[in-house]
Parts: sequence; C-alpha cells; structure tokens
Amino acid sequence: MRIGIDLGGTKIEAIALTDDGKIATRRRVATPTGNYGKTVRTVVDLVMGIEGELRMRGRIGIGTPGAVSPATGLIKNSNSTILIGRPLEKDLSAALGREVRISNDANCFALSEAVDGAAAGAEVVFGVIVGTGTGAGVVVRGEVLTGPNAVAGEWGHNPLPWPRPEELPGPKCYCGKTGCIETFLSGPGLARDFLGATGKTLAPAKIVGLAEGRDPSAEACLRRYEDRMARGLAHVINILDPDVIVLGGGMSNATRLYINVPKLWGIYVFSDRVDTRLVPPIHGESSGVRGAAWLWPPS
Ligand SMILES: [Zn+2]
Repeated sequence: MRIGIDLGGTKIEAIALTDDGKIATRRRVATPTGNYGKTVRTVVDLVMGIEGELRMRGRIGIGTPGAVSPATGLIKNSNSTILIGRPLEKDLSAALGREVRISNDANCFALSEAVDGAAAGAEVVFGVIVGTGTGAGVVVRGEVLTGPNAVAGEWGHNPLPWPRPEELPGPKCYCGKTGCIETFLSGPGLARDFLGATGKTLAPAKIVGLAEGRDPSAEACLRRYEDRMARGLAHVINILDPDVIVLGGGMSNATRLYINVPKLWGIYVFSDRVDTRLVPPIHGESSGVRGAAWLWPPS
C-alpha cells in the first residue's frame, strides 16, 4: 500500500492507494497555520490514522509546493513559507521510522497523470499546473525527472518567449523578476490582463465564461492568453519534445485551450509538424495526492 500526502498551504490531504491505483481511504485536514512542528505532527497523525484504519503499513510519498534541495536536504522555493529552510524529509522520516519521499506538487501532478491518467503510457510527459501560480513537472518513462537543482520543469519563472512590444517588460513577479510566464498564464495573470484591457476586475472562470458568451473583450483576452500559452509551450517542445502535455489547475477547465493552443504552437515549434498532444487531466484535484503516492513505483 502507498500513502500519498498533499501538503498544501491551506489543507493537507492524504490517501491510501492500492497497488492497482484504487483509493482505499481518504482524509483531509486544515494545515496548521504558521507552525512547522504542528505541520509535521499533523502529517504523522494522518499516516497513523490511515494505517490504523486499514491495519497496514504504507510507503509514504509527500507532494508539497517547493522542492527538497539536493545539496542541503532543506525545502526551498515553497510558497508555504513555514517549510522553507526546514529538513522536512529528515523530520518526517524520523517521526515515521521509515524513508519518506518528497516531491514538488507539480511533479506529483505530472506523475499521477503519467502513471494512470491523461498521459498514461506516454514516454515523456510535461504536466503543467496553471492555477494561482504556474508550475510544471517532467516525467520520463514513469519517473519524475528532478535534476541536480530540483528545478526540472520550473518553467513558470522563465520569461514569456517571443514577447510582443506591449508585453515588455511584463508584470512584476513574486520571484523578483518581471515578465515571468507565470505572470501571464496563471489565473491571476489572466485576470490582470483583463483588468488592464477593460478596467474590470473579474475572476478567471468568469472571464472564460464571458468569452463563451461571445463577449468581445473577454474573447480578445482569451486569445492573447492562448497565444502566450502556445509560445510558452512551444519553448518546452523545442527543448524537451514531450509526447503529451497535461494541463491542471483552475485554467485547465477552459476546454477551448485544448483546441486553440495546438493550432497556434506550430508557428513557434521548430518542426514541420507538431504531434505533441495537449490534454485535460483525468484525476483533476486528486492528481497531487495520487502522484505523491506514486513516488513509490510498483514493486
Ligand atoms: Zn517569476
């Protein structure tokens, strides 16, 4: 049995996954605010609770924003700031008395969709989360590609490629740079673009809905978004050439992306044709926690 934990900034979700990918049980609790020690204890309690309920010991995978630095073993790049600089892997392994695997939440998303989701059977998968932020993970032949810096897939903080004059220098990003892909492709990025063009503040899903209703300013905003996504993903295709790109996060609910973005990315990909598939997720919200469990490959 595998236990997957999605350790987020507001909630901690845990599942037990059977060897054939079925969820045996599921638990969800609020993340203790601003307290690292309590966060570790909450994860331990979730594991103990599940193991008590199922009378089985599991192999434990954790998905969390940020990454474990290969050099120091400490968490970095996390928007759950109480985890930054903490030896989470060591502390959880010690508290649970066994090895624990930790990976970035976008990596877990990509892994879940690559193992038994929208990209099942594909050799190289790029899984993108376009939600409050923009992150991505790379899975090659069923395994997460991490890299010596643990940043493989961190494409949201590259600059938007082939920028138009009006896109420069681009919005300020929390990472300290300007014009990052995340500032354009995240949900807040779409909302900012709409605000800039119309003076109206609307939630991303509302803007997508308006465009469906043929509102010209929302339609123009979505077209800009699709062209930016096509450019961003063409960059990825030119470097990694994945078989499948899976979208997750709130923006992945905009079904028009799967038709319109592949129509545009051929302009930017260095190839006479593009056979990469752009697909919606199958496991949706559960992908993070499922991918955490799949950090342990089938034995
Ligand atoms: Zn950035």
